Amino acid sequence: MIFGGPGRYIQGANVLSKFPEYLNKFIGKKSLRSLIVGGKRSLVSCGLLMETLKENRLEYDEECFGGECCNKEIDRLSSLVSRNDYDLIIGIGGGKSIDTMKLVANLNKKPVVVVPTIASTDAPCSALSVVYSETGVFERYEFFPRSPDLVIVDTSVVAKSPPRTLVSGMGDALATYWEARACLRSGAINCLGGRTSPSSLALSRLCYDSLIEFGKQAFIDCQNQTVSTALERVVEANTLLSGVGFESGGLAAAHAIHNGFSTIPATQKFLHGEKVAFGTLVQLILDQEPKETINQVLNFCSSVNLPITLSQIGINTSKNNFITSGLRKVAEKSMAEGETIHNLPYKFDRQTIMDAILEADKLGRMWNVNHN
Ligand SMILES: [Zn+2]
Repeated sequence: MIFGGPGRYIQGANVLSKFPEYLNKFIGKKSLRSLIVGGKRSLVSCGLLMETLKENRLEYDEECFGGECCNKEIDRLSSLVSRNDYDLIIGIGGGKSIDTMKLVANLNKKPVVVVPTIASTDAPCSALSVVYSETGVFERYEFFPRSPDLVIVDTSVVAKSPPRTLVSGMGDALATYWEARACLRSGAINCLGGRTSPSSLALSRLCYDSLIEFGKQAFIDCQNQTVSTALERVVEANTLLSGVGFESGGLAAAHAIHNGFSTIPATQKFLHGEKVAFGTLVQLILDQEPKETINQVLNFCSSVNLPITLSQIGINTSKNNFITSGLRKVAEKSMAEGETIHNLPYKFDRQTIMDAILEADKLGRMWNVNHN
């Protein structure tokens, strides 16, 4: 088995005020010259980080992120790094800017510090980046020999992020345990090229339990921009546990079903984790989980506004031939060669997948009728 994780993971309210101290302790050089890259808003929300660097007379340059993790942006930032020979790369913001800076740092063999400002993805802790075309179409995964050296999550920054991004992170994290469990059962190979360890399954389980216990409260606290125990636990689940869980645990049906839905343009306006949440429901049906578990997931999803029906991810089943052709396309795409659905520990065919999607939708609709 192979297990991986970030060099160091730091989380808490106002942890950015100790940024130079952590650099000294965990990166280890006395006088670092850093390149800081993030979106405009992220750079503003992490003003505290820049202030502490200035106070400690640590040199840095700030650069605005172009918005897409694409070859053009990677080349631009990479040549900036090689021209100026920075000692350290600091990536601030959401999944795309973090993925770009992990890639740029690895290309230039520099240490990288990741500072997420939202808890919507598991990009911060992983040793891979997703590269898109300039127009945002998926191109490839890039895997690195090392995970980020340091991940610093300031929960007072995350508390001010849009609640929908936290919820989407919860949707992504919801799948982690079920997918890792499938991989452990089938003996599938994880993102690091080894088998799933019992330790990564245990962290994935903690991820799931944190969401069930604290998800709803964290959603409320994020709406009120309040740092609380619940918010801390959910940020840890979305960022650290889900990140380690998917990378060392492995992916299975939930993410493959999500990829299947990418063939339906109407689902494009929904966030990654929102669609993964529905994919999780489909996987639980495929796994033949008992009713209590499925109800627990339905209850959790509806308490934080995660989708549990096809219409909640933009699909009108009575329109656009969804039942006659769209559904088949979703199933086919999710079963494409190399898709993680093949990590499931049992046999299935296209019809099984199509039936499970419709069953998930039916259970979700019934839940909504009975509970709203
Ligand atoms: Zn995901």
